[in-house]
Amino acid sequence: MSNRRKLRAPAHVAAADQAFAYARDLSSEPGTATVVLDYAAEDRQCSWCDCPPGLYGPHALIPGYTCDGCPLPADYDVHLLVGTPDQALIPICRGHLPGVQPFLAEVFPGAAFSLEQHPS
Ligand SMILES: [Zn+2]
Ligand SMILES: [Zn+2]
Repeated sequence: MSNRRKLRAPAHVAAADQAFAYARDLSSEPGTATVVLDYAAEDRQCSWCDCPPGLYGPHALIPGYTCDGCPLPADYDVHLLVGTPDQALIPICRGHLPGVQPFLAEVFPGAAFSLEQHPS
């Protein structure tokens, strides 16, 4: 077990609830994708890989496709809200976090992104 996980204080949980409520509001606008950044909720692996993203990448085309992605544990959960109630979860390590927004911009061209950075 790792001890790097931060304890979720009540104030943190309340702030996260608020961020999600706000993000849900924003993402109900057509053409708007909202990202909520939070600590990884449980032990997950970073989901980053260098495969082509989107509908024509191998992960979308080949059911059960696995690749040599990032072997590190996820530090953050990136929640992607596109409309309501669609929501995707992208566990990500610290090092790959900066790549997430450019990646999303590529997958959802033309979407207006708003990043709810939580915790700040
Ligand atoms: Zn991959
Ligand atoms: Zn990673």
